Amino acid sequence: MLEFHKQKPKNPSKSDPEKRIKDFQEIYSQFDNKTSVEQSSRCSQCGVPYCQIHCPLNNNIPDWLKYIAENRLEEAYQVSSSTNVFPEVCGRVCPQDRLCEGNCVVEQAGFGAITIGNLEKYLTELAWEKGWVKNIEINSSSKKKVAIIGSGPAGMAASSYLIQNGYHVDVFEKNDRVGGLMIYGIPNFKLDKSIVERRTDWLTNSGVNFHVNKEIGKDLTFQDLEKDYDAILVATGVYKARKLDIEISNINNSLPALDFLIESNKVGLGDTPSSNKYLSAKDKHVVVIGGGDTAMDCVRTAIRQKAKEVTCLYRRNKENMPGSAREVLNAEQEGVKFNWLAVPSKIISEKSEASSLSYKVATLGEADETGRRKPLDTGIEKQIRSDLIIQALGFEPEDLNSHFNTDLELTSWNTVKVDFKRFQTSNPKVFAAGDIVRGASLVVWAIHDGREVAKSIHQFLQSNQIKKAS
Ligand code: SF4
Ligand code: SF4
Repeated sequence: MLEFHKQKPKNPSKSDPEKRIKDFQEIYSQFDNKTSVEQSSRCSQCGVPYCQIHCPLNNNIPDWLKYIAENRLEEAYQVSSSTNVFPEVCGRVCPQDRLCEGNCVVEQAGFGAITIGNLEKYLTELAWEKGWVKNIEINSSSKKKVAIIGSGPAGMAASSYLIQNGYHVDVFEKNDRVGGLMIYGIPNFKLDKSIVERRTDWLTNSGVNFHVNKEIGKDLTFQDLEKDYDAILVATGVYKARKLDIEISNINNSLPALDFLIESNKVGLGDTPSSNKYLSAKDKHVVVIGGGDTAMDCVRTAIRQKAKEVTCLYRRNKENMPGSAREVLNAEQEGVKFNWLAVPSKIISEKSEASSLSYKVATLGEADETGRRKPLDTGIEKQIRSDLIIQALGFEPEDLNSHFNTDLELTSWNTVKVDFKRFQTSNPKVFAAGDIVRGASLVVWAIHDGREVAKSIHQFLQSNQIKKAS
């Protein structure tokens, strides 16, 4: 260990931009055994591991890095998977520059972070290859039943821990495939769909019952679930697109990001393309509004769909973007243009079709409540050609109570109110986790919540004594 001053940090190679924009394949290759051993040996085995503190799952990173460095790979995998049910997903989609790697002391000391995410991905792919990923062992048996609404990362993670404790678990998914945003939101070039499908098969083979095309409030009532199950987990995520504060309602070629990404992912999965011509970026001047990871997913998808030109419009500058710096760099390399400090003001349209977008040029003022500097109007207005406008301004919760005909207590942001220790709602037998309690967040936080809520549901079903959330 402690080889960081001799070994340079290395990441697996990335395919060339000109080549990678021709398809939707993942862009990063994988470590080989020799490089993974070398890279792990750079870790200084910190007494207070900041990498672990800043990993939402609190993964025991120094221990599994040490095992990799000693070539004890199966043991490394056992440690890594003991806290993270989908490590190969996190290795691919976590913004490591803001989490484990960004806080690594070796990075802080100027030697370059230990490449934790890629090591986690290598290790788990190796575990699949070697057959170390076994069906979940059921520890005990119970006649109690848990219903999970939503099969995204929180619901999937919770299901794995609940069946381990012997419960009968039914997961209800309103879409036609399992995986939530991992299957329909995140593009293939970041997370190949076979990775998600492999985990779905693993859960199914381990005993989880998935029911697709089953929407609660439509195909089944929430009250049916209350009657038939001992506990319910709401893990629906948040899907309602946050709106632009300019008039767009009658503009056909202005879309929410998710509509665009879902269509692209469905086509990638082999579904017939929709007849809605506005869902494709081919041959269009595309403008994506927003600066987060969803905006980056859209611009990079549009490039791969052979758009004529793709521009990202963001109201702050590059340094104040909420998305991962790695994703912005990938987008820039792939030919996406960025118009920083641009605040959309008006859509220029004819017969309900936008032809261009006006925006105000901003300057940055003081930091706001998010810690990022506020855009201020300079009075300068510009226009950009746009025959497809994609709004990637974030997501909000839908009106859950009216949909489910329930009266769960909500927060002022319309997320479900829980106490974050137990994830229990105002109805004691109903729990909630993931984006529906946090607001739109990272996959790794949803996996964390799935793990923690499963513990809480187990405790509730064992004792039935947990009091109503305050
Ligand atoms: Fe880093 Fe994410 Fe893995 Fe945690 S789960 S170690 S944050 S890549
Ligand atoms: Fe190793 Fe970096 Fe974590 Fe320290 S902070 S234990 S050097 S990975």
